[in-house]
Amino acid sequence: MSLPLWFDPALCLIGGEWVPPRTGATLPLVNPSDGSDLARIARGGSDDIDAAVNAAHTARAGAWGKMTALERGRILTRIGQIVLERADDLAVLEAADVGKPLTQARADAVALARYMEFYGGAADKVMGETIPYLDGYTVYTLREPHGVTAHIVPWNYPMQIIGRSVGAALAMGNACVLKPAEEACLTALAFAHIAQEAGLPEGALNVVPGLGAEAGAALSGHPRIQHISFTGSVATGALIQQAAGRNVVPVTLELGGKSPQLVFDDADLDEALPFLVNAGCQNAGQTCSASSRILVQRGVYDEVCRRMADAYGTLTVGPAMQDHRVGPLISARQKEIVEGFLGKGADLRVAARGVLVDNAPDTGAYVLPTLFADVPPDHPLARDEIFGPVQVIIPFDTEEEATVIANSTDYGLVASVWSRDGARQMRLARKLQAGQVFLNNYGAGGGVELPFGGVGKSGHGREKGFEALYGFSVLKTVAARHG
Ligand code: NAD
Repeated sequence: MSLPLWFDPALCLIGGEWVPPRTGATLPLVNPSDGSDLARIARGGSDDIDAAVNAAHTARAGAWGKMTALERGRILTRIGQIVLERADDLAVLEAADVGKPLTQARADAVALARYMEFYGGAADKVMGETIPYLDGYTVYTLREPHGVTAHIVPWNYPMQIIGRSVGAALAMGNACVLKPAEEACLTALAFAHIAQEAGLPEGALNVVPGLGAEAGAALSGHPRIQHISFTGSVATGALIQQAAGRNVVPVTLELGGKSPQLVFDDADLDEALPFLVNAGCQNAGQTCSASSRILVQRGVYDEVCRRMADAYGTLTVGPAMQDHRVGPLISARQKEIVEGFLGKGADLRVAARGVLVDNAPDTGAYVLPTLFADVPPDHPLARDEIFGPVQVIIPFDTEEEATVIANSTDYGLVASVWSRDGARQMRLARKLQAGQVFLNNYGAGGGVELPFGGVGKSGHGREKGFEALYGFSVLKTVAARHG
C-alpha cells in the first residue's frame, strides 16, 4: 500500500532535529488489516530519552520558555489549521497503522485539530486569583508550567490522546517528551512534523518512539521529568505511578474501563439503540471508554436484546481502507487476548455476531463483534476489560439493583442513563461511580471541552477541557506584605 508518508518514520525528533535513534535499532510497524509490513520506526532507548529530556529543558530556558501565552496559543491554532488541511492524509496513516476504518480515522484527525484550536484559544485565558488575607497584604496566585512533561500514549487513539495531552501541556508552556506506542506511531510523527511547520520552537516537543520497557520506562523514570501523563493499561499505569513516586512528580493516569449504559423501561429506545451498539463497537471496542456492559430493565429487556441483535447483523467487519463499520484489532496478539475472553463466554448465550466481509484477508487481525445476553453481573465477561468488540447485556429489576451492578467493577470511567424520568437521571448522575456520566446519550470519551478521567482502577487526574490546563500547571501563591 502506498502511504502519504512525507517524512522518514525511522527518526526521532530531539531538540528540533530529526535524528536516527542512538541505539541504531528500528522496529517494524504492521498493518493490522492484512499483517503486512508498513514501515520501520525508531527503537529509541535511554540515551535518546536523556537527550530529549535535556532538549526540552533547553527549550524551556530558551525561546519556548520566553514566549507569551498569546504566542503559544497562536502556534497551537496554526498546528490545528494544518492538521485540518492534512486530515485526509492523517486519516490514511491512522487507518493503515491502527486498523481504524477510514471515517473513524478522519474523525480522529478532525478531533486533533479541534484540540489544538481549543487549547490554542485557551492558552492566554488561564488566570490566577487574589485572596483576601491579613491587613497590609496582597495575595495572589499564578499558574505556572511544570517544566518538562512526559507523555506516554497507547495505540488505540494516537491522534486524540496526543491532542488532549500534548495540546494542553504546550498551551501552559511546558516542553514535552512524547513516547508513542510501538504498535502505532505514524500520526505522532506526522503531528510533530506539522508542529515544526507551524513554528513550534525547537525542543518544545520531542518524540522518541520505542518499546514500553525501554524508551517508556526510561522516560517515566527520568529524574529530570517534572510531570507524567500516561494513557494505557492498568498494569503499566501502576509501574508509571511507582516511577513517578521515586522522583516525586505528579502523574495523570488514564487507564481502562468497563463502562455501563443503564436502560430503563421508560427509555426512548429509538434514541438509545444506536448509542448502545456504537459505544461498544467503535474502534473495534478498543476504546478505554467503550460501553461494554448494557444493563436493561426487565420491561424492555427482550426488545433491547432483539434490536441490538438486529443491529449487530449490520456490523460489517473488514479492512480499514474499505471503511466498514468495524476494522481489525490492532494486532494478532490483541486478537488472541480477545479470543481468550470469547472462550470464557462459552457458557453464555450469544445473542448476535457481526459479519466478516468476503475479501477480508486471513492475515488480518479480525474478530467478529459479539453480543452476549442474560449475563450474570459477576461473570468475568461482565467485570474484566476485554478491549475488543464484545458487549454483554445484563437484566435488572430496580434502579437500586442497577446502581449496585453498575458500580460493581474495579473501574469507573464513563456511565450513561437512558430514562425519561428527570429525578432518576439526577439521582443516578450522583450515585454512579464514574468520571463522566451521560444522560440520554453516550459520548465515548465525550467532547474536547469535557473533562475526562476515571475513578478506581480507571485512573486519576483529568485531561481534556479547561481542567487539563490546571493539571498541566502548578499553582504558586504570592503573598506581598506592603503595610
Ligand atoms: P500499555 O499500557 O501496554 O501501553 C501504553 C503505553 O505505555 C505504550 O506507549 C507503551 O509502550 C507504554 N509502556 C508499556 N510498558 C511500559 C513501561 N514499563 N514503562 C513505561 N511505558 C510503558 O497499553 P496498551 O496495550 O497500549 O493499551 C491498551 C490499554 O490502554 C487498555 O487497557 C485501555 O483501556 C487503556 N487505555 C486507556 C485510555 C484512557 O484514556 N483511559 C485510552 C486508551 C487506552
